[in-house]
Amino acid sequence: MEIQNFINGQFLPSVSNKWLDNYNPANGEVYGKLPNSTKADVDNAYIAAKSAFPTWSQTTLEERSRILIKISELLETHLQRFAEAESIDNGKPINLAQTVDIPRAASNFRFFANAITQYSSESHESVGHQAINYTLRQPIGVVGCISPWNLPLYLFTWKIAPAIAAGNCVVAKPSEITPMTAYLLGEICKEAGLPKGVLNIVHGLGKTTGQAIIEHPDIEAISFTGGTTTGAHIAKIAAPMFKKLSLELGGKNPNIIFDDCDYNDMLETTIRSSFANQGQICLCGSRIFIESSIYEKFKKDFVEKTKQLKIGHPSKSDTQIGALVSKSQLEKIKNYITIAKEENGVVLCGGNEFTVENFENGYYFEPTIIEVKTNTCTINQEEVFGPVVSIMPFNTEDEVLQMANTTKYGLSATLWTNNLKRSIRISNQLQVGLVWVNTWMLRDLRTPFGGTKASGLGREGGFEALRFFTEAKNICIKY
Ligand code: NDP
Repeated sequence: MEIQNFINGQFLPSVSNKWLDNYNPANGEVYGKLPNSTKADVDNAYIAAKSAFPTWSQTTLEERSRILIKISELLETHLQRFAEAESIDNGKPINLAQTVDIPRAASNFRFFANAITQYSSESHESVGHQAINYTLRQPIGVVGCISPWNLPLYLFTWKIAPAIAAGNCVVAKPSEITPMTAYLLGEICKEAGLPKGVLNIVHGLGKTTGQAIIEHPDIEAISFTGGTTTGAHIAKIAAPMFKKLSLELGGKNPNIIFDDCDYNDMLETTIRSSFANQGQICLCGSRIFIESSIYEKFKKDFVEKTKQLKIGHPSKSDTQIGALVSKSQLEKIKNYITIAKEENGVVLCGGNEFTVENFENGYYFEPTIIEVKTNTCTINQEEVFGPVVSIMPFNTEDEVLQMANTTKYGLSATLWTNNLKRSIRISNQLQVGLVWVNTWMLRDLRTPFGGTKASGLGREGGFEALRFFTEAKNICIKY
């Protein structure tokens, strides 16, 4: 299957006509190719976006909203096709793509189609000065959206939908590892009547295509989701050009379990928050801290349940753990297991590559639980981004809070307790962008989303995203 760039409403190969291989992680085989785009393609995408901007930014909110809703509806109509494409490209279980990834991509468009009609500017009377101020929220112009491979269409559309709803035109790059659904989205945008040039999708490597986007002097804002190292690199390039930046980066999220929680609910959810999408979700709770009084019971039950998870080919409806996204990701995870063992971590289950019959070259890895002695070990400090979690006991609230906050990251945290006062006390002190109490990954799209410390900069979601994708201009009129 040959993927093409989507520039100015047209599907095109890269200017250089060079290609990259696209791998199917379930069998390790190349199943398609995608453009290996360069600066020339990004420049063309920028020109298309720039010329679409004057009309799109003046298009009524009703019309923009109508087109976004149409995109959302078409995603729902073609849900099965998109889910299959996502599952093949990424290795995630088809079930997950059907119930999470694609429905959420459709929701992203629908949500921002509605949000833009509710987003309004403010005005203030300057009392005693006979003046009135009003603040316009104007679209920025051409913006860059760069997204990772773990939730490909879900995160790609999380950026694109608010950007175009707010009246911007976009140059976007999906991860080169999972380009397929972004490509299919181009078809749907065309069918929905999105004017040419409003959304331009350029495929290629981060270090060339992505780099050309962030270096482009006239792409005025960058919304990026990906690794912390890449985020730091982007910030360095963008800062001297004073680009607006939103960075959603890595995490090393604590999952804190007190003995007064609803145990079964906690156990069920902890299986998901540890291993959903093969643990490749920035919000996964990879450091699990358990109150000593229930530590041994939890350890036994958690290991038992984890061993029951069905690893299999992503296309099978009963598969719970699919393939990792790439060979390099598999190697990275194996390396972390070696390090954990060297640092006296005890592998309680998993820890090995897994072979799925007939798909011996796929990138499968067992869900893994490692018992650690200290929170300062590598596996508790570095983002593994795979089906690997650590467990360790704690005795006091202060102790666990201190461990939870001892990491360079600050994305999310999960807390299990029925003690209301404690849940508020701890939530207020956790150094993270979002806390879930007695649940995990329950998302309301109106809420601000993002991390602190090395987990990023800025917030997306709801009006926060619309604020990011608009520039505030105050106008003061004396009367
Ligand atoms: P990367 O940082 O490697 O890549 C993210 C995107 O940036 C890809 O499209 C990549 O292209 C591109 N890119 C790489 N280098 C550059 C560059 N120099 N200039 C511009 N773009 C570049 O992250 P991964 O794709 O490996 O994704 C995993 C990471 O994403 C994890 O750390 C995870 O925690 C984080 N993440 C954060 C989330 C959040 O909301 N905070 C949500 C989901 C994931 P290419 O693929 O070609 O390298």
